[in-house]
Amino acid sequence: MQAMQTKRIYLDNAATTPLCDAAAKAMAPYMESGTQAPFGNANSLHSIGREAFSALEDARARVARALKAHRPDEIVFTGGATESDNSAIVGMALGAREKARLAGKHGPFKVVTSRIEHEAVLETSHMLRALGFEFELVDNDGLGRVTPEALKRIVDENTLVVSVMAANNEVGTIQPIAALSAVCRKHGAPFHTDAVQAYGHIPLDVSALGVDALSVSAHKFHGPKGVGFLYCRKGLATEPLISGGAQERGYRAGTENLAGIVGMEAAARLAFGGNAADSSCEELAFSMAQARVHVASLRNYMARFIENEIPDIRINGSGTQHLPGILSVSFQGVSGEALLGLLDQQGVCASAGSACASGSLEPSHVLTAMGIPAEWAQGTIRFSFSAFTEQREVERACQVLRDAVHHLRNV
Ligand code: PLP
Repeated sequence: MQAMQTKRIYLDNAATTPLCDAAAKAMAPYMESGTQAPFGNANSLHSIGREAFSALEDARARVARALKAHRPDEIVFTGGATESDNSAIVGMALGAREKARLAGKHGPFKVVTSRIEHEAVLETSHMLRALGFEFELVDNDGLGRVTPEALKRIVDENTLVVSVMAANNEVGTIQPIAALSAVCRKHGAPFHTDAVQAYGHIPLDVSALGVDALSVSAHKFHGPKGVGFLYCRKGLATEPLISGGAQERGYRAGTENLAGIVGMEAAARLAFGGNAADSSCEELAFSMAQARVHVASLRNYMARFIENEIPDIRINGSGTQHLPGILSVSFQGVSGEALLGLLDQQGVCASAGSACASGSLEPSHVLTAMGIPAEWAQGTIRFSFSAFTEQREVERACQVLRDAVHHLRNV
């Protein structure tokens, strides 16, 4: 295949999304230079600080409302989901252990999560083990779903934290979070969910889901990178992981990234349709309801094309309980890395499994945990769509994909 330079087609929105106009506009004043820009530290007591504080608290209140949190102070701003996940799981484990010891329990205490979590959750096992916790993994049903029955078999009175993601980043499977949190409640185990891929894409209501903590990263829904938040139910026993100043009511020390937070809130407001009255039609395309219909139709188009035009493939994950914008496909007898390279040469950007795992020759831990044989797993590509993706781009990507698979199978 000859390399061709055309406008690039971005089908890797589960790795990160382009910034939306609303977020860019909201952040612009905070990025300006000089003393007239809103540069204040939200913790300063003078008027410049108070203005920053007011912007920060306004953003917190709106973010809390969109999630149906009971109180704004249940939102802790962080530097993204990796930090939110680490802080939630380790902080909750330490807080719950303290509580359990005061109640006369001695353990051994454990933290439970699933085999298909992102590394931001799975890698906390090292710190947790060093702190004396046991770490157990729950299986999935082969479609990437953790069932309440599987969780029941593993959660007991010594379980201090359970963390199961709201939707998987590689195959898009949506978890039955309300049913899983109910299992945990029976055992008094606090429940955290990594909602990075779900937030802004499917409705989320922390009360209806029954979660105690929930992690979000702004750049997955057209906000800026390096900023996110942790919803942390009022009264939950938890310890801060980052110590220092008293910012975020002592849950997360360090001066807040106000520009990022304001940008994240603007993107969230758009996703949740909160500023419909003052949005242009273009912006409204980002509202969750509209974007869902759009990306679902792109995903369906590509899935049907692949099924009809390319032999020996399998579509991974649940056929019904999946995010609208993620499509994971395995191509038998094809190297995922080689296919990704050929697609890239033709201007189509996708991903082999999760962004963090790419570059590694190991089959993805998610596909392996779903029981997908290694020879299929290593030929897997994830396509992910956003409100920015156009139908004609997907049509072109489909043609490129068919030719690339054909080419690789014939060399
Ligand atoms: N959790 C999930 C499910 C993700 O998909 C990602 C990023 O890909 C993360 C956590 C980490 O997010 P961040 O890199 O923004 O900290």
